[in-house]
Amino acid sequence: MRNNTKPVFVGNVKIGGGSVPIQSMCNTKTEDTAATIDQINQLYSAGCEIARLAVPNINAANAFDKICSASPIPVVADIHFDYKLALTCIANGAAKIRINPGNIGSMDKVKEVANACKNRNIPIRIGVNLGSMDEAIEGEFGRTPLAMVKSALAHIEILNRCDFDDIVISLKASDVSKTVEAYRLMSKSCKYPLHLGVTEAGTRYSGIIKSAIGIGSLLLDGIGDTIRVSLTAPPVEEIKAAKEILRAVGLYEGGAQLISCPSCGRCQIDQVRIANEVEKAIEHIKKPIKVAVMGCAVNGPGEAKDADIGIAGGDGCALLFKKGVIIRKIDEKDIVKTLIDEIGENL
Ligand code: SF4
Repeated sequence: MRNNTKPVFVGNVKIGGGSVPIQSMCNTKTEDTAATIDQINQLYSAGCEIARLAVPNINAANAFDKICSASPIPVVADIHFDYKLALTCIANGAAKIRINPGNIGSMDKVKEVANACKNRNIPIRIGVNLGSMDEAIEGEFGRTPLAMVKSALAHIEILNRCDFDDIVISLKASDVSKTVEAYRLMSKSCKYPLHLGVTEAGTRYSGIIKSAIGIGSLLLDGIGDTIRVSLTAPPVEEIKAAKEILRAVGLYEGGAQLISCPSCGRCQIDQVRIANEVEKAIEHIKKPIKVAVMGCAVNGPGEAKDADIGIAGGDGCALLFKKGVIIRKIDEKDIVKTLIDEIGENL
C-alpha cells in the first residue's frame, strides 16, 4: 500500500497518488542544447520519465525553450536563489521547478514565482539537503532529520502563504539512516508527494547500494512518490538502478529480468560469463520476461521455476527449460545464442 499523497502533475507525468516515476538529472552544460537534448533522449530510451537540468545562469534558462520543445519527457529546472532564472525557465516551458522559497528573498519575489507556476500548472519541488539547511533551524535542531523536516515545513508555509499548494518535497542526506528517518517523519507531517533520493551517494557500486537501502526501505514502507538514484556515473546508469530498485520492491514489472545463481562447486559451465552475456543481450527488452541462468541441474530448473525461460548448466552442456519444464539439452558453446533465440521467439 502506498501512502495516500496529493497527486501532482509534471507535464503529463503524475507524481503521487500511487505512481512512482523515475527521474534523473543531466550532467551536460544545459546551454549546450544539442548535448543536453541528446542526453535526455538517452535517458528516455533507458526508461527515465522526468529529466532535471541545472540552471546556474541565464544562458541555461534561455536554453529551456529549445530543450523543452525537443524533449520527449517533462523537463525540470533546478534553481538556487535567483527568482529571475525561475521565471525565465517557467516562461520557456519547464514542467516543474526545484527552488526553495525561503532562499528566494522577499515575499514579492516568491509570490511572483508562485503565481507564474500557478498560471501554468507547474509544481515546485522544495529540496532540503542536510548539508545546506537554514542556519537558524540548524542552530536550533542540529544537523538532524528533524531539522530537515522543520526546514521543509518552513518552506511549505511560505508557499502556502502565497496560496500555492502544488508542491513536492525532498529531504536528502548522504547518510542513509538520516535520509530514511527524515522521510518517515515528513510522511507523517504532510500529504505532499515525496521525491526520494540519497544524495552524494557515491560511485556506481557504493551509490547503488546506499540508494537501494535508503529508497528501497522507504518504498517498502509505502513512502515515496518519485525516485532519483544519484550516482557519480553516467546518468543512464541511474535509470537502470532505479528500475531495479522499483522492481525489487514490486513497483515495476516491465522489461527482462535475469535470475542467476551465484554458482558453486556443482557448476561445470562458465556461469559468470554466460550470465553477464545474457544480461547484456536482454537489457533492451521492454516486455516483461524472466530469464534464468542457473549453474547446475540439481537445483536450477526447480529454483528458477517462475522464470519464463532458462538454462541449467551440466557437463559441457546445459538444459533449456521453460517454467521449470525441461525442453532439451544444448551444447555449452551454444548456450547464449540458443537462449537469446528462444527468448526472441517467446516475446
Ligand atoms: Fe550451485 Fe547449482 Fe545452486 Fe547454482 S543452481 S548455486 S550451481 S547448486
